[in-house]
Amino acid sequence: MRFAEVAALADRYLMRTYNRLPVALADGEGVRVRDTEGKEYLDFVGGLAVSALGHKHPAVVQAIKEAAEGLLHTSNLYYTEPQARLAARLAALTGLDRAFFGNSGAEANEAAIKLARRWGRQGGRNRCKIISAWQSFHGRTLGSLAATGQPKYHEGFGPLPEGFVYVPLNDVDALAAAVDDETAAVLLEPIQGESGVRPCTAEFLRAARRLCDEKGALLILDEIQTGMGRTGRMFAFEHFGVRPDIVTVAKALGGGIPIGAVLAREEVAQAFGPGAHGSTFGGNPFACRVALAVLDVMERERLPARAEAMGRRLRDGLSRLEGVAEVRGLGLMVGVELAGAPAPKVQQACLERGLLVNAVGESVLRLLPPLIVTEQDVDAAVRIIGEAIAAVRGQGETACP
Ligand code: PLP
Repeated sequence: MRFAEVAALADRYLMRTYNRLPVALADGEGVRVRDTEGKEYLDFVGGLAVSALGHKHPAVVQAIKEAAEGLLHTSNLYYTEPQARLAARLAALTGLDRAFFGNSGAEANEAAIKLARRWGRQGGRNRCKIISAWQSFHGRTLGSLAATGQPKYHEGFGPLPEGFVYVPLNDVDALAAAVDDETAAVLLEPIQGESGVRPCTAEFLRAARRLCDEKGALLILDEIQTGMGRTGRMFAFEHFGVRPDIVTVAKALGGGIPIGAVLAREEVAQAFGPGAHGSTFGGNPFACRVALAVLDVMERERLPARAEAMGRRLRDGLSRLEGVAEVRGLGLMVGVELAGAPAPKVQQACLERGLLVNAVGESVLRLLPPLIVTEQDVDAAVRIIGEAIAAVRGQGETACP
Protein backbone atom coordinates (compact mmCIF):
# COMPACT_ATOMS: atom_id res chain seq x y z
CA MET A 1 0.00 0.00 0.00
CA ARG A 2 1.09 3.59 -0.63
CA PHE A 3 0.96 6.24 2.09
CA ALA A 4 -2.39 7.72 1.04
CA GLU A 5 -4.14 4.35 1.24
CA VAL A 6 -2.59 3.43 4.58
CA ALA A 7 -3.49 6.80 6.06
CA ALA A 8 -7.05 6.69 4.73
CA LEU A 9 -7.63 3.22 6.17
CA ALA A 10 -6.03 4.10 9.51
CA ASP A 11 -7.93 7.37 9.80
CA ARG A 12 -11.19 5.57 9.05
CA TYR A 13 -10.78 2.61 11.42
CA LEU A 14 -8.36 3.47 14.23
CA MET A 15 -9.36 5.33 17.38
CA ARG A 16 -7.93 8.80 17.31
CA THR A 17 -5.51 8.38 20.20
CA TYR A 18 -2.41 9.45 18.27
CA ASN A 19 -1.37 12.48 16.28
CA ARG A 20 0.72 10.79 13.63
CA LEU A 21 3.30 12.32 11.33
CA PRO A 22 2.43 12.07 7.62
CA VAL A 23 4.57 9.00 6.96
CA ALA A 24 3.87 5.25 6.92
CA LEU A 25 6.95 3.25 7.86
CA ALA A 26 7.34 -0.03 6.06
CA ASP A 27 10.81 -1.45 6.70
CA GLY A 28 14.05 -0.85 8.51
CA GLU A 29 17.57 -2.08 9.01
CA GLY A 30 20.09 -0.99 11.60
CA VAL A 31 19.64 2.71 12.35
CA ARG A 32 17.58 3.34 9.21
CA VAL A 33 13.90 2.95 8.37
CA ARG A 34 12.11 3.26 5.05
CA ASP A 35 8.62 4.53 4.31
CA THR A 36 6.03 3.23 1.87
CA GLU A 37 7.27 5.69 -0.77
CA GLY A 38 10.81 4.36 -0.56
CA LYS A 39 12.27 7.33 1.32
CA GLU A 40 14.93 6.48 3.92
CA TYR A 41 15.26 8.04 7.38
CA LEU A 42 17.90 7.98 10.06
CA ASP A 43 15.91 6.79 13.06
CA PHE A 44 16.71 8.87 16.15
CA VAL A 45 13.42 7.95 17.82
CA GLY A 46 14.11 4.21 17.94
CA GLY A 47 10.47 3.26 18.49
CA LEU A 48 10.54 5.45 21.62
CA ALA A 49 13.56 3.73 23.19
CA VAL A 50 12.48 0.24 22.17
CA SER A 51 14.75 -0.45 19.19
CA ALA A 52 18.01 -0.26 21.14
CA LEU A 53 19.64 -2.81 18.82
CA GLY A 54 18.27 -1.05 15.75
CA HIS A 55 16.03 -2.74 13.23
CA LYS A 56 16.48 -6.35 12.12
CA HIS A 57 19.53 -7.00 14.28
CA PRO A 58 20.71 -10.43 13.04
CA ALA A 59 20.81 -11.86 16.57
CA VAL A 60 17.25 -10.72 17.25
CA VAL A 61 16.01 -12.03 13.90
CA GLN A 62 17.67 -15.38 14.63
CA ALA A 63 16.23 -15.53 18.15
CA ILE A 64 12.75 -14.75 16.84
CA LYS A 65 13.02 -17.51 14.23
CA GLU A 66 14.20 -20.03 16.79
CA ALA A 67 11.62 -18.93 19.34
CA ALA A 68 8.85 -19.17 16.74
CA GLU A 69 9.84 -22.74 16.00
CA GLY A 70 9.70 -23.57 19.70
CA LEU A 71 6.86 -23.26 22.15
CA LEU A 72 5.31 -19.80 21.73
CA HIS A 73 3.12 -19.74 24.76
CA THR A 74 2.21 -21.91 27.72
CA SER A 75 0.46 -19.66 30.33
CA ASN A 76 1.92 -19.32 33.79
CA LEU A 77 0.38 -22.55 34.97
CA TYR A 78 3.69 -24.18 34.05
CA TYR A 79 7.40 -23.53 34.39
CA THR A 80 9.40 -22.58 31.29
CA GLU A 81 13.16 -22.36 30.97
CA PRO A 82 13.35 -19.01 29.09
CA GLN A 83 11.30 -17.22 31.77
CA ALA A 84 13.40 -18.67 34.59
CA ARG A 85 16.64 -17.78 32.81
CA LEU A 86 15.49 -14.23 32.03
CA ALA A 87 14.45 -13.66 35.64
CA ALA A 88 17.90 -14.79 36.80
CA ARG A 89 19.66 -12.52 34.27
CA LEU A 90 17.62 -9.46 35.24
CA ALA A 91 18.07 -10.16 38.94
CA ALA A 92 21.84 -10.27 38.46
CA LEU A 93 21.83 -7.07 36.40
CA THR A 94 19.67 -5.08 38.82
CA GLY A 95 21.08 -6.54 42.04
CA LEU A 96 17.52 -7.52 42.98
CA ASP A 97 16.10 -10.97 43.71
CA ARG A 98 12.84 -11.81 41.95
CA ALA A 99 11.01 -10.89 38.75
CA PHE A 100 7.41 -10.75 37.61
CA PHE A 101 6.75 -10.45 33.86
CA GLY A 102 4.07 -8.53 31.99
CA ASN A 103 3.83 -7.17 28.46
CA SER A 104 4.44 -3.42 28.68
CA GLY A 105 5.79 -0.59 30.74
CA ALA A 106 2.44 0.36 32.19
CA GLU A 107 1.86 -3.22 33.31
CA ALA A 108 5.30 -3.33 34.93
CA ASN A 109 4.54 -0.16 36.89
CA GLU A 110 1.05 -1.39 37.73
CA ALA A 111 2.63 -4.53 39.18
CA ALA A 112 5.19 -2.46 41.07
CA ILE A 113 2.49 -0.27 42.60
CA LYS A 114 0.40 -3.29 43.59
CA LEU A 115 3.48 -5.01 45.04
CA ALA A 116 4.41 -1.92 47.08
CA ARG A 117 0.86 -1.59 48.41
CA ARG A 118 0.60 -5.26 49.27
CA TRP A 119 3.96 -5.06 51.05
CA GLY A 120 2.73 -1.88 52.74
CA ARG A 121 -0.18 -3.77 54.30
CA GLN A 122 1.90 -6.58 55.75
CA GLY A 123 3.83 -7.04 58.96
CA GLY A 124 1.67 -4.57 60.89
CA ARG A 125 2.33 -1.80 58.36
CA ASN A 126 -0.37 0.57 57.16
CA ARG A 127 1.19 2.08 54.09
CA CYS A 128 -0.59 2.76 50.83
CA LYS A 129 0.65 6.18 49.74
CA ILE A 130 2.64 6.33 46.50
CA ILE A 131 4.71 9.48 45.94
CA SER A 132 5.86 10.38 42.45
CA ALA A 133 7.08 13.52 40.71
CA TRP A 134 5.23 16.20 38.83
CA GLN A 135 5.73 15.82 35.06
CA SER A 136 6.48 12.12 35.49
CA PHE A 137 5.14 9.51 33.10
CA HIS A 138 4.48 5.98 34.29
CA GLY A 139 1.84 4.64 31.88
CA ARG A 140 -1.81 4.67 30.93
CA THR A 141 -3.46 1.97 33.06
CA LEU A 142 -5.45 3.53 35.90
CA GLY A 143 -2.81 2.81 38.56
CA SER A 144 0.19 3.88 36.50
CA LEU A 145 -1.84 6.86 35.27
CA ALA A 146 -2.61 7.89 38.85
CA ALA A 147 1.14 7.79 39.50
CA THR A 148 1.77 9.96 36.44
CA GLY A 149 2.16 13.54 37.63
CA GLN A 150 0.55 15.18 34.60
CA PRO A 151 -3.07 16.30 35.09
CA LYS A 152 -3.64 16.54 31.32
CA TYR A 153 -3.46 12.74 31.12
CA HIS A 154 -5.93 12.30 34.00
CA GLU A 155 -8.64 14.42 32.42
CA GLY A 156 -11.92 12.58 31.99
CA PHE A 157 -10.74 9.31 33.53
CA GLY A 158 -11.73 9.87 37.14
CA PRO A 159 -12.16 8.64 39.71
CA LEU A 160 -8.55 7.50 39.70
CA PRO A 161 -7.22 5.21 42.44
CA GLU A 162 -6.58 7.15 45.66
CA GLY A 163 -3.40 7.60 47.60
CA PHE A 164 -1.14 9.15 44.95
CA VAL A 165 0.71 12.37 45.66
CA TYR A 166 3.23 14.35 43.64
CA VAL A 167 6.25 16.45 44.47
CA PRO A 168 8.26 18.78 42.24
CA LEU A 169 11.21 16.95 40.67
CA ASN A 170 14.49 17.57 42.50
CA ASP A 171 12.81 19.31 45.43
CA VAL A 172 14.31 17.49 48.40
CA ASP A 173 12.33 19.50 50.98
CA ALA A 174 9.02 18.73 49.29
CA LEU A 175 9.90 15.05 49.18
CA ALA A 176 10.95 15.09 52.83
CA ALA A 177 7.61 16.66 53.72
CA ALA A 178 5.69 14.07 51.72
CA VAL A 179 7.32 10.81 52.88
CA ASP A 180 5.63 9.64 56.08
CA ASP A 181 4.50 6.57 58.01
CA GLU A 182 1.76 5.91 55.46
CA THR A 183 4.08 5.94 52.48
CA ALA A 184 4.39 2.63 50.69
CA ALA A 185 6.79 3.87 48.03
CA VAL A 186 8.46 6.72 46.24
CA LEU A 187 8.29 6.08 42.49
CA LEU A 188 10.71 7.97 40.24
CA GLU A 189 12.14 7.93 36.72
CA PRO A 190 15.90 8.56 37.11
CA ILE A 191 15.48 10.78 34.03
CA GLN A 192 11.96 11.86 33.15
CA GLY A 193 11.57 10.95 29.51
CA GLU A 194 8.15 11.73 28.16
CA SER A 195 8.07 15.23 29.62
CA GLY A 196 11.27 16.30 27.90
CA VAL A 197 14.33 14.47 29.28
CA ARG A 198 14.62 15.93 32.78
CA PRO A 199 17.17 14.15 34.97
CA CYS A 200 16.88 13.68 38.72
CA THR A 201 19.79 15.32 40.47
CA ALA A 202 22.05 12.90 42.34
CA GLU A 203 21.16 14.83 45.48
CA PHE A 204 17.44 14.22 44.94
CA LEU A 205 17.74 10.49 44.18
CA ARG A 206 20.05 9.95 47.14
CA ALA A 207 17.68 11.92 49.37
CA ALA A 208 14.82 9.71 48.12
CA ARG A 209 16.80 6.62 49.14
CA ARG A 210 17.66 8.09 52.54
CA LEU A 211 14.09 9.26 53.25
CA CYS A 212 12.68 5.85 52.27
CA ASP A 213 15.16 4.18 54.62
CA GLU A 214 14.41 6.56 57.46
CA LYS A 215 10.63 6.25 57.10
CA GLY A 216 10.52 2.57 56.17
CA ALA A 217 9.15 3.09 52.64
CA LEU A 218 10.24 1.53 49.34
CA LEU A 219 12.10 3.20 46.50
CA ILE A 220 10.77 2.18 43.08
CA LEU A 221 12.76 3.27 40.05
CA ASP A 222 10.95 3.30 36.72
CA GLU A 223 13.73 2.34 34.31
CA ILE A 224 11.35 1.61 31.47
CA GLN A 225 12.93 4.28 29.30
CA THR A 226 16.28 4.76 31.01
CA GLY A 227 17.12 1.07 31.45
CA MET A 228 18.79 -1.47 29.17
CA GLY A 229 21.94 0.52 28.46
CA ARG A 230 20.24 3.67 27.21
CA THR A 231 22.02 6.11 29.55
CA GLY A 232 25.48 4.58 29.31
CA ARG A 233 24.99 2.03 32.11
CA MET A 234 22.73 -1.00 32.00
CA PHE A 235 20.46 0.84 34.46
CA ALA A 236 20.48 4.57 35.12
CA PHE A 237 20.51 4.13 38.91
CA GLU A 238 24.12 2.97 38.55
CA HIS A 239 25.11 6.58 37.76
CA PHE A 240 23.70 7.79 41.05
CA GLY A 241 25.01 5.21 43.48
CA VAL A 242 21.45 4.50 44.63
CA ARG A 243 20.03 1.01 45.08
CA PRO A 244 16.27 0.71 44.57
CA ASP A 245 13.98 -1.84 46.24
CA ILE A 246 11.97 -2.28 43.05
CA VAL A 247 12.87 -1.62 39.41
CA THR A 248 10.59 -1.67 36.37
CA VAL A 249 11.87 -2.50 32.90
CA ALA A 250 10.18 -2.75 29.47
CA LYS A 251 10.72 -0.99 26.12
CA ALA A 252 14.17 -2.16 24.92
CA LEU A 253 14.01 -5.43 26.85
CA GLY A 254 12.28 -7.29 24.01
CA GLY A 255 14.04 -5.56 21.11
CA GLY A 256 10.58 -4.79 19.67
CA ILE A 257 8.70 -7.79 21.09
CA PRO A 258 6.35 -6.62 23.88
CA ILE A 259 7.61 -7.55 27.34
CA GLY A 260 7.91 -5.78 30.68
CA ALA A 261 9.20 -6.79 34.07
CA VAL A 262 9.20 -5.72 37.68
CA LEU A 263 12.16 -6.75 39.84
CA ALA A 264 12.17 -6.58 43.61
CA ARG A 265 14.32 -7.51 46.53
CA GLU A 266 13.41 -10.71 48.35
CA GLU A 267 11.61 -9.31 51.36
CA VAL A 268 9.42 -7.10 49.15
CA ALA A 269 8.79 -9.79 46.52
CA GLN A 270 7.44 -12.03 49.29
CA ALA A 271 4.33 -9.81 49.37
CA PHE A 272 3.20 -11.43 46.11
CA GLY A 273 2.04 -14.94 46.96
CA PRO A 274 0.19 -17.30 44.60
CA GLY A 275 -2.83 -15.59 43.08
CA ALA A 276 -1.84 -12.08 44.20
CA HIS A 277 -1.05 -10.94 40.68
CA GLY A 278 -0.88 -12.49 37.24
CA SER A 279 -0.81 -12.19 33.47
CA THR A 280 -1.83 -14.59 30.71
CA PHE A 281 0.91 -13.58 28.27
CA GLY A 282 3.45 -12.21 30.75
CA GLY A 283 6.83 -13.86 30.40
CA ASN A 284 5.86 -16.30 27.70
CA PRO A 285 8.68 -18.38 26.20
CA PHE A 286 8.67 -16.45 22.94
CA ALA A 287 9.17 -13.00 24.47
CA CYS A 288 11.65 -14.27 27.06
CA ARG A 289 13.83 -16.03 24.50
CA VAL A 290 14.04 -12.85 22.45
CA ALA A 291 14.80 -10.76 25.55
CA LEU A 292 17.61 -13.15 26.45
CA ALA A 293 19.07 -12.63 22.97
CA VAL A 294 18.77 -8.85 23.40
CA LEU A 295 20.71 -9.04 26.67
CA ASP A 296 23.36 -11.22 25.02
CA VAL A 297 23.90 -8.61 22.29
CA MET A 298 23.97 -5.74 24.79
CA GLU A 299 26.69 -7.46 26.78
CA ARG A 300 28.68 -8.85 23.84
CA GLU A 301 28.68 -5.56 21.91
CA ARG A 302 29.11 -3.49 25.09
CA LEU A 303 26.20 -1.28 24.10
CA PRO A 304 25.97 0.68 27.36
CA ALA A 305 29.56 1.88 26.85
CA ARG A 306 28.76 2.67 23.23
CA ALA A 307 25.70 4.66 24.35
CA GLU A 308 27.94 6.64 26.67
CA ALA A 309 30.51 7.48 23.98
CA MET A 310 28.00 8.21 21.20
CA GLY A 311 25.81 10.14 23.59
CA ARG A 312 28.70 12.41 24.52
CA ARG A 313 29.44 13.06 20.86
CA LEU A 314 25.76 13.75 20.17
CA ARG A 315 25.34 16.15 23.08
CA ASP A 316 28.60 17.96 22.24
CA GLY A 317 27.52 18.41 18.64
CA LEU A 318 24.03 19.58 19.55
CA SER A 319 25.18 22.07 22.16
CA ARG A 320 27.28 23.83 19.50
CA LEU A 321 24.25 24.43 17.27
CA GLU A 322 22.70 27.83 16.96
CA GLY A 323 19.14 27.88 18.30
CA VAL A 324 19.84 25.27 20.97
CA ALA A 325 19.35 26.65 24.49
CA GLU A 326 20.18 23.50 26.47
CA VAL A 327 21.05 19.86 25.91
CA ARG A 328 20.02 17.46 28.68
CA GLY A 329 20.30 13.77 29.40
CA LEU A 330 22.74 10.92 29.76
CA GLY A 331 24.08 8.52 27.15
CA LEU A 332 21.71 8.25 24.21
CA MET A 333 18.70 9.70 26.03
CA VAL A 334 18.95 13.30 24.95
CA GLY A 335 16.66 16.31 25.25
CA VAL A 336 17.30 19.42 23.18
CA GLU A 337 15.71 22.62 24.47
CA LEU A 338 15.19 24.88 21.47
CA ALA A 339 15.15 28.66 21.46
CA GLY A 340 13.22 30.51 18.80
CA ALA A 341 12.06 27.49 16.76
CA PRO A 342 8.95 25.47 17.70
CA ALA A 343 9.87 21.81 18.25
CA PRO A 344 7.00 20.39 16.12
CA LYS A 345 8.18 22.45 13.16
CA VAL A 346 11.78 21.34 13.65
CA GLN A 347 10.56 17.75 13.90
CA GLN A 348 8.76 18.19 10.55
CA ALA A 349 11.81 19.85 8.97
CA CYS A 350 13.98 16.93 10.16
CA LEU A 351 11.47 14.47 8.70
CA GLU A 352 11.68 16.21 5.33
CA ARG A 353 15.48 15.93 5.52
CA GLY A 354 15.41 12.21 6.35
CA LEU A 355 15.77 12.22 10.14
CA LEU A 356 13.24 11.00 12.73
CA VAL A 357 13.23 12.96 16.00
CA ASN A 358 10.49 13.35 18.61
CA ALA A 359 9.03 16.75 19.53
CA VAL A 360 7.95 16.96 23.16
CA GLY A 361 5.67 19.94 23.67
CA GLU A 362 6.58 23.20 22.01
CA SER A 363 10.27 23.51 22.82
CA VAL A 364 12.00 20.14 23.26
CA LEU A 365 13.31 17.53 20.84
CA ARG A 366 13.82 14.09 22.34
CA LEU A 367 16.41 11.80 20.78
CA LEU A 368 16.46 8.07 21.57
CA PRO A 369 18.48 6.49 18.76
CA PRO A 370 19.43 2.82 18.67
CA LEU A 371 22.51 2.19 20.81
CA ILE A 372 24.30 0.83 17.72
CA VAL A 373 24.62 4.28 16.11
CA THR A 374 27.96 5.12 14.56
CA GLU A 375 29.89 8.38 14.75
CA GLN A 376 28.79 9.08 11.17
CA ASP A 377 25.13 8.62 12.12
CA VAL A 378 25.52 10.96 15.07
CA ASP A 379 27.27 13.61 12.99
CA ALA A 380 24.64 13.32 10.25
CA ALA A 381 21.83 13.75 12.80
CA VAL A 382 23.49 16.83 14.32
CA ARG A 383 23.96 18.34 10.87
CA ILE A 384 20.32 17.74 9.88
CA ILE A 385 19.00 19.12 13.18
CA GLY A 386 21.14 22.22 12.68
CA GLU A 387 19.79 22.68 9.16
CA ALA A 388 16.23 22.07 10.30
CA ILE A 389 16.48 24.64 13.10
CA ALA A 390 17.97 27.18 10.70
CA ALA A 391 15.21 26.55 8.15
CA VAL A 392 12.44 26.93 10.73
CA ARG A 393 13.97 30.08 12.16
CA GLY A 394 14.30 31.43 8.62
CA GLN A 395 10.59 30.76 7.97
CA GLY A 396 9.71 32.52 11.22
CA GLU A 397 11.54 35.64 10.08
CA THR A 398 9.75 35.68 6.73
CA ALA A 399 6.34 35.18 8.34
CA CYS A 400 6.77 37.86 11.00
CA PRO A 401 9.06 40.60 9.67
N1 PLP B 1 7.33 4.51 32.22
C1 PLP B 1 8.10 5.29 31.46
C2 PLP B 1 9.26 5.99 32.09
C3 PLP B 1 7.83 5.44 30.10
O1 PLP B 1 8.61 6.22 29.36
C4 PLP B 1 6.73 4.75 29.55
C5 PLP B 1 6.38 4.91 28.13
O2 PLP B 1 6.76 5.84 27.47
C6 PLP B 1 5.95 3.95 30.38
C7 PLP B 1 6.27 3.86 31.71
C8 PLP B 1 4.76 3.21 29.83
O3 PLP B 1 5.20 2.17 29.01
P1 PLP B 1 4.20 1.48 27.97
O4 PLP B 1 3.86 2.50 26.94
O5 PLP B 1 5.00 0.31 27.44
O6 PLP B 1 3.01 1.02 28.74
